[in-house]
Amino acid sequence: MIYEQLEKRGIKSQQVLDAFRKVKRHQFVPEEYRSMAYADQALPIGKGQTISQPYIVAYMTEALDLKSTDCVLEVGTGSGYQAAILAELCDTVYSIEIIESLGNNAKKLLKKIGYSNIVTKIGDGYQGWKTHAPYDAIIVTCAPTQIPEPLKDQLAEGGRMIIPVGEQYVQELILLEKKNGQLRKKKVLPVMFVPMVNETGRIY
Ligand code: SAH
Repeated sequence: MIYEQLEKRGIKSQQVLDAFRKVKRHQFVPEEYRSMAYADQALPIGKGQTISQPYIVAYMTEALDLKSTDCVLEVGTGSGYQAAILAELCDTVYSIEIIESLGNNAKKLLKKIGYSNIVTKIGDGYQGWKTHAPYDAIIVTCAPTQIPEPLKDQLAEGGRMIIPVGEQYVQELILLEKKNGQLRKKKVLPVMFVPMVNETGRIY
Protein backbone atom coordinates (compact mmCIF):
# COMPACT_ATOMS: atom_id res chain seq x y z
CA MET A 1 0.00 0.00 0.00
CA ILE A 2 2.67 2.48 0.99
CA TYR A 3 4.83 2.13 -2.10
CA GLU A 4 2.18 1.44 -4.75
CA GLN A 5 -0.57 3.75 -3.54
CA LEU A 6 1.27 6.53 -1.75
CA GLU A 7 4.92 6.96 -2.79
CA LYS A 8 4.34 6.20 -6.48
CA ARG A 9 1.59 8.83 -6.56
CA GLY A 10 3.76 11.52 -5.07
CA ILE A 11 3.41 11.40 -1.28
CA LYS A 12 6.89 12.53 -0.22
CA SER A 13 6.79 13.33 3.48
CA GLN A 14 8.75 10.65 5.34
CA GLN A 15 6.85 11.48 8.52
CA VAL A 16 3.53 10.88 6.76
CA LEU A 17 4.79 7.62 5.24
CA ASP A 18 6.08 6.51 8.66
CA ALA A 19 2.69 7.22 10.21
CA PHE A 20 1.11 4.93 7.59
CA ARG A 21 3.64 2.22 8.46
CA LYS A 22 2.75 2.50 12.11
CA VAL A 23 -1.07 2.74 12.02
CA LYS A 24 -2.63 -0.57 10.94
CA ARG A 25 -5.62 0.17 8.72
CA HIS A 26 -7.14 -3.28 9.25
CA GLN A 27 -7.82 -2.40 12.89
CA PHE A 28 -10.19 0.35 11.71
CA VAL A 29 -12.05 -1.73 9.12
CA PRO A 30 -15.10 -3.90 10.02
CA GLU A 31 -14.46 -7.66 10.21
CA GLU A 32 -16.15 -8.44 6.89
CA TYR A 33 -13.92 -6.07 4.91
CA ARG A 34 -10.67 -6.85 6.69
CA SER A 35 -9.22 -8.77 3.76
CA MET A 36 -9.52 -5.54 1.74
CA ALA A 37 -8.06 -3.29 4.42
CA TYR A 38 -4.99 -2.34 2.36
CA ALA A 39 -6.81 -2.05 -0.98
CA ASP A 40 -6.78 1.18 -2.97
CA GLN A 41 -10.29 2.25 -2.03
CA ALA A 42 -12.69 3.58 0.57
CA LEU A 43 -14.52 0.90 2.58
CA PRO A 44 -17.87 0.84 4.43
CA ILE A 45 -17.72 1.33 8.21
CA GLY A 46 -21.48 1.12 8.88
CA LYS A 47 -24.28 3.71 9.04
CA GLY A 48 -23.70 4.48 5.36
CA GLN A 49 -20.26 5.97 6.08
CA THR A 50 -16.79 5.06 4.81
CA ILE A 51 -13.15 5.01 5.81
CA SER A 52 -11.42 7.07 3.12
CA GLN A 53 -9.05 5.71 0.47
CA PRO A 54 -5.49 5.56 1.89
CA TYR A 55 -4.14 7.92 -0.78
CA ILE A 56 -6.69 10.60 0.09
CA VAL A 57 -5.89 10.27 3.81
CA ALA A 58 -2.18 10.64 3.00
CA TYR A 59 -2.73 13.53 0.58
CA MET A 60 -4.82 15.51 3.05
CA THR A 61 -2.42 14.80 5.89
CA GLU A 62 0.62 15.88 3.86
CA ALA A 63 -1.15 19.05 2.75
CA LEU A 64 -1.52 20.15 6.39
CA ASP A 65 2.29 20.19 6.81
CA LEU A 66 2.01 19.38 10.52
CA LYS A 67 4.53 20.16 13.24
CA SER A 68 4.87 18.02 16.35
CA THR A 69 3.53 20.90 18.48
CA ASP A 70 0.36 21.42 16.41
CA CYS A 71 -3.21 21.03 17.64
CA VAL A 72 -5.54 19.73 14.95
CA LEU A 73 -9.32 19.68 14.62
CA GLU A 74 -10.88 16.85 12.62
CA VAL A 75 -14.53 16.93 11.55
CA GLY A 76 -15.84 13.40 10.84
CA THR A 77 -14.09 10.87 13.12
CA GLY A 78 -15.69 7.90 11.34
CA SER A 79 -13.49 4.86 11.99
CA GLY A 80 -10.80 6.91 13.75
CA TYR A 81 -8.14 6.00 11.17
CA GLN A 82 -7.41 9.54 10.00
CA ALA A 83 -7.31 10.70 13.63
CA ALA A 84 -4.69 8.03 14.42
CA ILE A 85 -2.53 9.07 11.45
CA LEU A 86 -2.74 12.71 12.58
CA ALA A 87 -1.95 11.76 16.18
CA GLU A 88 1.39 10.31 15.02
CA LEU A 89 2.36 13.70 13.61
CA CYS A 90 1.07 16.37 15.96
CA ASP A 91 0.53 17.18 19.63
CA THR A 92 -3.23 16.77 20.02
CA VAL A 93 -6.12 15.79 17.75
CA TYR A 94 -9.65 16.95 18.57
CA SER A 95 -12.12 14.95 16.51
CA ILE A 96 -15.90 15.35 16.20
CA GLU A 97 -18.37 12.78 14.87
CA ILE A 98 -22.09 13.33 14.45
CA ILE A 99 -23.15 9.63 14.48
CA GLU A 100 -23.03 8.49 18.08
CA SER A 101 -22.29 4.79 17.51
CA LEU A 102 -19.39 5.54 15.13
CA GLY A 103 -17.93 8.14 17.47
CA ASN A 104 -18.16 5.80 20.46
CA ASN A 105 -16.60 2.88 18.57
CA ALA A 106 -13.73 5.04 17.36
CA LYS A 107 -13.15 6.39 20.86
CA LYS A 108 -12.94 2.87 22.32
CA LEU A 109 -10.66 1.62 19.56
CA LEU A 110 -8.27 4.57 19.78
CA LYS A 111 -8.03 4.12 23.53
CA LYS A 112 -7.41 0.39 23.15
CA ILE A 113 -4.60 0.99 20.64
CA GLY A 114 -3.11 3.44 23.11
CA TYR A 115 -3.66 6.97 21.76
CA SER A 116 -3.78 9.41 24.62
CA ASN A 117 -3.51 12.51 22.41
CA ILE A 118 -6.85 12.12 20.61
CA VAL A 119 -9.88 13.75 22.18
CA THR A 120 -13.22 12.83 20.62
CA LYS A 121 -16.76 14.09 20.98
CA ILE A 122 -20.17 13.49 19.51
CA GLY A 123 -21.62 16.58 17.91
CA ASP A 124 -22.08 18.69 14.82
CA GLY A 125 -18.64 19.56 13.49
CA TYR A 126 -20.06 22.35 11.31
CA GLN A 127 -19.82 24.44 14.46
CA GLY A 128 -16.21 23.41 15.11
CA TRP A 129 -15.08 22.98 18.74
CA LYS A 130 -14.66 26.39 20.30
CA THR A 131 -13.22 25.24 23.62
CA HIS A 132 -9.86 24.27 22.14
CA ALA A 133 -9.68 26.83 19.30
CA PRO A 134 -7.73 28.21 17.54
CA TYR A 135 -6.34 25.19 15.70
CA ASP A 136 -3.05 25.04 13.83
CA ALA A 137 -4.77 22.80 11.30
CA ILE A 138 -8.31 21.70 10.47
CA ILE A 139 -9.21 18.63 8.43
CA VAL A 140 -12.75 17.94 7.31
CA THR A 141 -13.59 14.45 6.07
CA CYS A 142 -17.22 15.03 5.06
CA ALA A 143 -18.34 17.50 2.42
CA PRO A 144 -20.42 20.64 2.96
CA THR A 145 -21.53 22.77 0.00
CA GLN A 146 -19.84 25.84 1.51
CA ILE A 147 -16.91 26.24 3.87
CA PRO A 148 -18.41 26.54 7.39
CA GLU A 149 -17.81 30.02 8.87
CA PRO A 150 -17.12 28.68 12.40
CA LEU A 151 -14.25 26.58 11.01
CA LYS A 152 -12.73 29.62 9.27
CA ASP A 153 -12.91 31.52 12.57
CA GLN A 154 -11.35 28.68 14.56
CA LEU A 155 -8.29 28.38 12.31
CA ALA A 156 -5.17 29.96 13.84
CA GLU A 157 -3.15 32.64 12.07
CA GLY A 158 -0.71 30.81 9.78
CA GLY A 159 -2.88 27.69 10.01
CA ARG A 160 -4.09 25.39 7.25
CA MET A 161 -7.43 23.78 6.56
CA ILE A 162 -8.17 21.01 4.08
CA ILE A 163 -11.82 20.41 3.21
CA PRO A 164 -13.89 18.80 0.44
CA VAL A 165 -16.52 21.25 -0.82
CA GLY A 166 -19.37 20.68 -3.23
CA GLU A 167 -22.57 18.84 -4.04
CA GLN A 168 -22.93 15.18 -3.26
CA TYR A 169 -20.32 13.16 -5.18
CA VAL A 170 -18.90 16.15 -7.12
CA GLN A 171 -16.48 17.92 -4.86
CA GLU A 172 -13.17 19.71 -4.89
CA LEU A 173 -10.65 19.34 -2.14
CA ILE A 174 -9.76 22.85 -1.04
CA LEU A 175 -6.65 23.90 0.86
CA LEU A 176 -6.94 27.15 2.81
CA GLU A 177 -4.23 29.12 4.56
CA LYS A 178 -4.82 31.95 6.98
CA LYS A 179 -2.33 34.77 6.42
CA ASN A 180 -2.79 38.17 8.11
CA GLY A 181 -6.33 37.17 8.95
CA GLN A 182 -7.16 36.48 5.30
CA LEU A 183 -7.91 33.07 3.82
CA ARG A 184 -6.07 32.04 0.70
CA LYS A 185 -7.83 29.25 -1.17
CA LYS A 186 -6.49 26.68 -3.57
CA LYS A 187 -8.40 23.86 -5.29
CA VAL A 188 -6.18 20.82 -5.17
CA LEU A 189 -8.04 17.66 -6.21
CA PRO A 190 -11.47 16.40 -7.30
CA VAL A 191 -12.82 14.03 -4.63
CA MET A 192 -15.87 12.08 -3.45
CA PHE A 193 -16.76 12.28 0.24
CA VAL A 194 -19.95 11.60 2.17
CA PRO A 195 -21.91 14.81 2.77
CA MET A 196 -21.64 16.91 5.92
CA VAL A 197 -25.03 16.76 7.61
CA ASN A 198 -26.69 18.35 10.62
CA GLU A 199 -28.36 16.53 13.51
CA THR A 200 -31.58 16.04 11.54
CA GLY A 201 -29.69 14.57 8.59
CA ARG A 202 -29.94 17.64 6.36
CA ILE A 203 -26.98 18.27 4.08
CA TYR A 204 -25.04 21.47 4.77
N1 SAH B 1 -12.04 10.39 8.88
C1 SAH B 1 -12.85 9.20 8.79
C2 SAH B 1 -13.72 9.27 7.55
C3 SAH B 1 -15.14 9.13 7.94
S1 SAH B 1 -16.34 9.50 6.70
C4 SAH B 1 -12.03 7.95 8.86
O1 SAH B 1 -10.79 8.03 8.89
O2 SAH B 1 -12.59 6.87 8.93
C5 SAH B 1 -16.95 11.04 7.29
C6 SAH B 1 -17.64 11.06 8.62
O3 SAH B 1 -18.15 12.38 8.80
C7 SAH B 1 -18.81 10.11 8.78
O4 SAH B 1 -18.58 9.25 9.85
C8 SAH B 1 -19.99 11.06 9.07
O5 SAH B 1 -20.92 10.53 10.00
C9 SAH B 1 -19.30 12.28 9.62
N2 SAH B 1 -20.05 13.55 9.58
C10 SAH B 1 -20.95 13.97 8.65
N3 SAH B 1 -21.42 15.18 8.99
C11 SAH B 1 -20.82 15.55 10.15
C12 SAH B 1 -20.89 16.69 11.00
N4 SAH B 1 -21.71 17.73 10.75
N5 SAH B 1 -20.10 16.71 12.11
C13 SAH B 1 -19.27 15.67 12.41
N6 SAH B 1 -19.18 14.56 11.64
C14 SAH B 1 -19.93 14.50 10.53
